[in-house]
Amino acid sequence: MKKGQTITCKRCGRCCLAHLISYTTDEDIERWRREGRTDILHIIDRDIPVWAGDHLVSAADGRHLRGCPFLDWKEKSALCAIYETRPRVCREFMPGSSELCPQFKRK
Ligand code: SF4
Ligand code: SF4
Repeated sequence: MKKGQTITCKRCGRCCLAHLISYTTDEDIERWRREGRTDILHIIDRDIPVWAGDHLVSAADGRHLRGCPFLDWKEKSALCAIYETRPRVCREFMPGSSELCPQFKRK
């Protein structure tokens, strides 16, 4: 890739399958409190993830957690239901920066 060239997100949703709550920071939680986003805080409180072997389950009710609870779809394109206030880890994630992204290219 040429210097300065950016990679376009294909909206495949793969990066959003990594569980959001595991990477949410106190700074995100504080911001959502300030913004009055009790909808987000409620889901995070409900879905406290714990490892059960090789997958995550909810500590509250043992439900199998499959990806970020805010991942939405429009036809085959991934959408973030809380895009305007998504956590820092999501804002800073660059398409192609990780092997989990199909746009990743080894140097
Ligand atoms: S908060 Fe949005 S951008 Fe972040 S992992 Fe969830 S769906 Fe993806
Ligand atoms: S894995 Fe890459 S292409 Fe897929 S949604 Fe995430 S950033 Fe976009």
